Amino acid sequence: MNTTDSDRPPGRKARSRLQLPAGISASPGVAIGPAYVVDRRRLRVPRNPIGAEGVDEEVARFRAGLRTTQEQLEEIKSRLPHGEHRQILNAQQLMLCDPDLAANVEGQIRDEQINAEWALAQAADEIRATLAKADAQHFRERGSDITFLAECVLRNLLGEPDDSILPPVGSIIVAHELSPADTAELARRQVTGVVTEVGGQTSHSAIIARSMEMPAVVGVEGIIEHADTGDTIIVDAIHGVVILRPRPSELERWNEVRGRYEKFEDLVQKEHGLPASTRCGSHVTIRANVALREEVASARFHGAEGIGLYRTEFLFMERDTPPTEEEHYRFAKSVLRSAAPYPVTFRTFDLGSDKPTKIMQFAEREANPAMGLRSLRLALREREMFLAQLRGLFRAAVHGPLKIMLPLVSGLSELRLAKEVVEEARTQLEEAGMAHAQDVPLGIMVEMPSTVLVLDVLVKHADFMSIGTNDLIQYTLAVDRENDDIGYLYRPLHPAIVRQIKRIADVGRAANVPVSLCGEMAADPRYTWVLVGLGITELSMHPSAVPIIKNIIRSSELSEMEDLAAEVLSAEDEDDAERAVLRVMRQRFPEHLDHGGGQKLTVEREDDRTR
Ligand code: PEP
Ligand code: MG
Repeated sequence: MNTTDSDRPPGRKARSRLQLPAGISASPGVAIGPAYVVDRRRLRVPRNPIGAEGVDEEVARFRAGLRTTQEQLEEIKSRLPHGEHRQILNAQQLMLCDPDLAANVEGQIRDEQINAEWALAQAADEIRATLAKADAQHFRERGSDITFLAECVLRNLLGEPDDSILPPVGSIIVAHELSPADTAELARRQVTGVVTEVGGQTSHSAIIARSMEMPAVVGVEGIIEHADTGDTIIVDAIHGVVILRPRPSELERWNEVRGRYEKFEDLVQKEHGLPASTRCGSHVTIRANVALREEVASARFHGAEGIGLYRTEFLFMERDTPPTEEEHYRFAKSVLRSAAPYPVTFRTFDLGSDKPTKIMQFAEREANPAMGLRSLRLALREREMFLAQLRGLFRAAVHGPLKIMLPLVSGLSELRLAKEVVEEARTQLEEAGMAHAQDVPLGIMVEMPSTVLVLDVLVKHADFMSIGTNDLIQYTLAVDRENDDIGYLYRPLHPAIVRQIKRIADVGRAANVPVSLCGEMAADPRYTWVLVGLGITELSMHPSAVPIIKNIIRSSELSEMEDLAAEVLSAEDEDDAERAVLRVMRQRFPEHLDHGGGQKLTVEREDDRTR
């Protein structure tokens, strides 16, 4: 596996071992192999005045560039099997058809009498800048799609040759960033791993790498600078670590780690289609959280029993006007079709704060957006936008088991207002004679302490409840969920959180109203016993976490989970609670924790420091 000088590009010397600062594990696993470095320099974009007489021709040239790019994407798609990869390319094609993009570029060509390449580069910069301002990582990452699409069109306009990458079988791709088209192409070339300098958990490349089960670490700054094609590279996509030119002893050790990982994966994957029932027969429903239609296939693949949280916010992104009823209808119908026969819980739009959109310019004026006009509050103010979504969902519900979930419900008066709008949507459909379902379950998210405190009242008015721990922790502990500076205070096992989860589970059980938990806690194997032991019977998580969590549940007795939950409930502070959980879970599920653990808990970091 060690590289020789003949593998190395001329003029570059062998360099010594290097471990790069940890990146983000976008798709878990361990890969070892020769690096294939993709070093794409940015295209040089010329700025040429064209004069008034050149405008029409330039617009036509731009449109031809768009058409050629569409055809190229279509061609790549035709070489791929049906499924997720194709759907991602479909999404890219849709982005390319966005009338706003064309209007923006053509407007600049006309107004500034400037060439198409320059106008396109400007428009792409503007869109990227808007996306970069988004607090939510998911939306920020859509900026890379814009970069790739703009580069494809620019290449066509400039007449530059195709720059597809052709790595040898078994390579590990090292790149600044990969496009979905690149990543899909990699599947055919049997690449074994991917490392990129940018990108995050929800970038398309990460999603595709996950669906191809290819280990990927993203966000490794400066790797292109340090790696040469042919260098041996270890990708530990469990902990987000990348080692270049490892020592022979390291190589040996990591080969063993990889062997163990693969054996474990096989075991867990083999059972992912089986129900998540404890050894004593208690069933826990495991569903998936998704934000993109193409993730529904991944949810199925990983064994999720439907979608427990469909974040519909992405539908509202990159547009100036909200989606129409018809769009909501067609979108929800197609999601139901992909998820059938399992149910899909659509959360009505949770826009604002960490999920901004161009539609809500006013949000920029808010001093405190997490407590501002967001989520259900926004829906109640923007009634037409809310009604359109509700009508679309009620119509789609004719085609499959659909549930509607309201985010950030603070108490009964707000729920009543929301229900009035729900009724109005139904009446409008009846009056218009449109086919729609009559008995769509309507549930609430429990994500604020106020909601928990009045839950005994609210439960009488909800068909189901889902605990949004991401926000519940934020609002209970007054810790901004996106602010790393105070991340040390964001403690899911804080007694205030654990007690609330218990209360919610108890209230739901007593009223016979199903309770699920769909915050990030659900995906973290360290918390599985505590959550089930507290009485949670449904967990919803990102698709790739499903097999591991199912495996933990299948290997456990309910009584041992309840014992741990009781110990955690009696802990006086979060440190003790974390210690109790780690003591048990590390001992019982060391590999599961390695594979699926999120960021280290505070007590783990302290242990590391004192070691
Ligand atoms: C939550 O708050 O836990 C949740 C699932 O919703 P979101 O992360 O989309 O706010
Ligand atoms: Mg939330």
